[in-house]
Formats: sequence, C-alpha cells, structure tokens
Amino acid sequence: DSADFDSETESVCPFCGVGCKVSLKVKDGKVKYVEGINGPANEGRLCVKGRFGFDYIHHEHRLTKPLIRRDDAPAKGLNVDPGNLMTHFREATWEEAMEKAAGGLSKLRQAHGGASVAGFGSAKCTNEEAYLFQKLIRQGFKHNNVDHCTRLCHASSVAALIENVGSGAVTATFNEIENADVAIVIGCNPLENHPVAATYFKQFTKRGGKLIVMDPRAQGLKRFAYQTLQFRPGADVSMLNAICNVIVEEGLYDQQYIDAYTENWDAEKEHLKDFTPEAMEEICGIKPDVIRDVARTFAGAKSAMIFWGMGVSQHIHGTDNSRCLISLALMTGQVGRPGTGLHPLRGQNNVQGASDAGLIPMFVPDYRSVEDDAVREDIFGVWGRDEDWSNKRGLTVTEIVDQAYAGNVKGMYILGENPAMSDPDAEHAREAFAKLEHLVVQDIFLTETACFADVILPASALYEKNGTVSNTNRQVQRVRPAVTPPGEAREDWAITVELAQRLGLDWGYTDVSQVFGEMKKVMKSLNNITWERLKTETVTYPSLSPEDPGQAVVFGDGFPRAGGRARFTPAAVIAPDEAPDADYPMIMTTGRQLEHWHTGSMTRRSKVLDAVEPEANCSLHPKTLRRLGVQPGDMVRLSTRRGSIEIMARADRAVAEDMVFVPFAYVEAAANILTNPALDPYGKIPEFKFSAVRVEAV
Ligand code: SF4
Repeated sequence: DSADFDSETESVCPFCGVGCKVSLKVKDGKVKYVEGINGPANEGRLCVKGRFGFDYIHHEHRLTKPLIRRDDAPAKGLNVDPGNLMTHFREATWEEAMEKAAGGLSKLRQAHGGASVAGFGSAKCTNEEAYLFQKLIRQGFKHNNVDHCTRLCHASSVAALIENVGSGAVTATFNEIENADVAIVIGCNPLENHPVAATYFKQFTKRGGKLIVMDPRAQGLKRFAYQTLQFRPGADVSMLNAICNVIVEEGLYDQQYIDAYTENWDAEKEHLKDFTPEAMEEICGIKPDVIRDVARTFAGAKSAMIFWGMGVSQHIHGTDNSRCLISLALMTGQVGRPGTGLHPLRGQNNVQGASDAGLIPMFVPDYRSVEDDAVREDIFGVWGRDEDWSNKRGLTVTEIVDQAYAGNVKGMYILGENPAMSDPDAEHAREAFAKLEHLVVQDIFLTETACFADVILPASALYEKNGTVSNTNRQVQRVRPAVTPPGEAREDWAITVELAQRLGLDWGYTDVSQVFGEMKKVMKSLNNITWERLKTETVTYPSLSPEDPGQAVVFGDGFPRAGGRARFTPAAVIAPDEAPDADYPMIMTTGRQLEHWHTGSMTRRSKVLDAVEPEANCSLHPKTLRRLGVQPGDMVRLSTRRGSIEIMARADRAVAEDMVFVPFAYVEAAANILTNPALDPYGKIPEFKFSAVRVEAV
C-alpha cells in the first residue's frame, strides 16, 4: 500500500539490458520494495533480480568516505577485508582525495605523456556519466585509451553490424517478436540473462511462432522451441554457413531484396558453395535434415528475427559469427519490416548507451571514427579546438591491461568496472593493476579492482542517480534518485567533473541535464529527444519528430552505409584458439546465472539473491561426474593453462559430456582465472566461451 511508504520514485532496473521500468518505494530513507511499472520494455514485469536485487545499496560494505592507500599498507593484492579496510587504506576528506587522485594522474601525464594514463568507464553508469568519462580521457590526456565492458560483451557483434549494416545498434526492438512468425535465438540464455525479454519470446510461441534455439548448452527456452540445435562449441560458423548454403542451393533467397539493398552477394554465394550440411555435420554436430529444415523455415517465414548473445560474440571468431547471422537475415530479406530484424541482446543495463556515448577507443559519440578529420572538426565545434588530441584509435580493455603489465600504461582511472574479476586470465590482470603507479577507482564497494587502488572515490548506485540510460531496444529512459548516497558518497558525474577541473579542464557543468544538452549537439541519434520529453516519456532512437515515440524497426528503406546498401561479408571456419588435448581434455565455457550479476559485487550483497544462490558452483553432465567419481555437491578442481580453481560441482544434463559451465560471479572460485585472453581480431573480444580445461576430483 502506498501509504506504507514515504515516497515512490520511477527509475530503471540496474541489471540487464532489457531496461525494465521500476517504482522504488522508500521508507525512512531506504528502498524497501521494488515494483515493475509500465515501461515499453517490461509492461509491469520484473525478474527476480529486478524485484529483489535492491538492498545492496544499503549494505554495510558501501563506501561512504574517500580512501587513500596507507603508506604502510601491505603489498597490493586481493588481501583486503571489505569489512575492515583500514589495514590498507585511511579515510580522507574529498579535498585531499581529489587532490591526490588528480595530482597523481597529472604527474604521470607530465612525466610520461598522456598515453601513460588510461580509463575504464562503466556500462552501469548513466549516458551522461559515460559521455563525461570519455571526454575526460580524450580532452585531459589527448588520446583515446578509453573503453568499458562492451569489449568483453558485444564488441564483435558491433564490429560486424557497423561493417555490414552501418550501425551498431539493434535493427528492431525485442518486442517486435510479436509481429514475427519465426525467431532464432542463438548463443544466449534469455530465461536467465534477459528474463523479461524471454516472457515476450514465450508469448510468441504461445501464438504459434516458431522458435529455433541454437546453443551448445541445452537451455530453458528449449522447452518452447520448434527446433533445438545443440551444436559443438565454437562451431557456429560451420552451422550457420550450412544453413545459408541450403538457402542458396534451394533458391530460397530474396533476390529482389538482395538487388535493392545489398552488395557483395556474388562473393557470398560463391563462398557458401563448400558449406553443404553434409560437409559441416562433422564440425558442428547437427544433422543435415535439421539444417535443411531450419533453412527452409527461416527463409520461408513472412517475418523472422534473430537474437543473439555472448555465446556468439565471445569467440576469436565472434565477428565472423555475427557476419553469418547478418548474411542470413539479408539474403532472406528479414530486415527493416515489422517482425524482422537483428537483435544482439545487450548485457549491462546501459552498455548500449555507454557505447553510444563514445566510451570506446575507436569512436567518439554515435560511433564516429576518431580517425576522421570531419568528425574531429564536429567535436572541436563543441569541445573547442584541440590539435593535440590523437587522431589514432586507442587501446581496448585487454590491450590496456597488457600495456599496464608491460609498464607503458602507468596510471588508470576506473569508474564502476571490476576488471580484476571480469578480465580473462584474471591473475595477469591483477598483476597488471598491482604494477600501476597510480590507480584511481570510483565505485560503490571495495571491488576486487579497488583493492589495488591508490585512491578510492565513493560513488552512487543507480537508484541514487539522476540521468538517462539506453536499453537493448535503443529506448532512452530517465533514472531518478529515490534515496541519497550514503555518507559522503557522491554521484559519479559530479566526481568526474571535479576531477576534470583539477586536471585543468574548463568544465562548468552544474547539472546533469547540461551534459545531456551537450550530448545532443554531438549525437544526431538524440535528435527530437529532449530532457523535457524524457520527464514523462521513454523515447526510442531514432525519433523522427518531437511527437514520434521512436522507430522500433529501422532500415526499411536502405542502410546507413555508402550507397545505402548492406554488405555480405563471407566468414571462414576458424578453430577455437585452444584445442583440448591430453593435459586439458575438456571444454570450459563461462556465463551468468539468473540470480547473480556479473562479478557479483551487487547481487551477492542482496539478501534474497544471495540466499537463493549462495555458493560458487559449476555444472557438469551426470555421466562426467560419474566418470570423475564425483557426487553432485562435491568439490572439483578446474585447471587451464592460466591457473586453477576449486568449486562445487552440480549435475546438469544441459551441459555436454565434454564440457563444464562456470558462472563468473564468484571471487572465491573466479572463472576468469581460467579463461583464455586470445582476442577476436576485429572486435578485440576475448574467447571467454572456449578454454581447454582439466577437471579433477579434489
Ligand atoms: Fe532487471 Fe533485466 Fe530482470 Fe528486467 S529482466 S528486472 S532489467 S534484470
């Protein structure tokens, strides 16, 4: 009952890219209850994370004062107790902490040049905060060594989308599935990772829509699927090219669409000749008659969509995987109409918005190249002329960590990211952070990354913030503060502004709406989307007029590429970087679970979620457990060429007999100690989804 609460505030769920709208009920200065409300992406629905994952914001581990590493602190490492920080840090005033944070970074800039400092921003922050962060690195240090977790998520999907359709965002909202009659869901597990989007997928099948699930791990949506293709890990390209081969061989493609809207079809057609279902069966493990049925069903659909996730993107051939999906949609003309489209389901709540805002090393806001003189002129028009700013693309997340390890990057500003847990080969990343001469971390908890910091700046959770976020559907929504940050913690945008000022930048923002106003000057995607409108509306970009709620489906009349044509880019089969062998005979894949979010810093401090899923665990097929002489609930040791962890084993028939699935949320058994840092050459995304591993009873 609303009488039970002091206030109710509308905001957006802080977890996944679905972007569910929530009402936050506050009593005595604390959020007590969260309810789903009628946003365009959720229509009142919430999953267990959105409903119960809120009390972390009041957890006793919240950082409430700036901290500075003690002169007599032990060597940098994960050896800090979040409940007893004073062994390593001392409390400081904001004045002292900001002076030290800015002073250390500017000393490095002076002694070694701006490129000695790099920044990781956050997909958990608002659009305005992401924009300010990339501007600070670019303007303050004159280069482009700024990135965020999109690099670990959909960077390869974005690389393929920009290359072939001219835009990195989805071509249709996930709600468009209500107008589709066929949908492919590949390399993602929406029931756990995008649960509210999954409700729309279930409604689609209830109406008779044909759902085709493709995943090396059998997953919950299988129960709703018309066809399930449990293909061999890493064999995506062979399977997808075989589907496309059938479409070509049986003449099922849409020649009219291809002629009107695409280029390079002849090369694609020629390339696909060798990928017969029979030839690919041995690689992908899918029977030719199933491949043929999927090809005919997809190509014969009146309208069809493709959804994908990190099972597609987190491979050294992640860009090739997405190229195949794009080609499949283009050759069948399944783009640009209601119920058609390409939709990489975004992970973090604002990874779409943070990427749009330029928090990436190769693009300024709106995915415009830092190497393009005309783009730089546009930016100068708003930021002021700055010929010293490098016109070369910067380093990506894992490249920055490697350069820190090598001693070339000497200082970092990390806002709201936890690479000491999320980077592949995490021990290597942790050693790199320990080597930094000056690390400034801005966060709400002492994350594993903050353990290595010289200065820690206490920041705000999403439910304490004002600003905008953009979800997987390109929908821009307002977030509003329901409660104030604890103690002396501040909103992230305000901390970044003060740091910039102390680094000598002439920044005069006094309100977050001014930042949004400046973003509109450099981002055409925000045309017709105003701060005023966002007070009462969610607007999908592009919005064609002040009254247009936005375009759910784009590219009906051509693509934002030269000549208006999308491109077919043929993809060859590339084996995973690390083949299983006698020492490491099985395959490890990583991912999320329904209850825990990414590195666990928020959800493991949420009482209900932590109670539901309290322990680090991995999943193995029951036959594999028997072969190992292990009972469900026993501990096993997982070892790869990077390291070992011990973790509780669960029996799970969804996992193939030669595989182990490991969630990456648990610091006590951190999956990323094991993962392979080999990169996709285009998106620079690591191969999280395939590592050769040995599994032993402990
Ligand atoms: Fe939050 Fe995603 Fe769940 Fe919606 S589906 S409540 S955005 S975690």
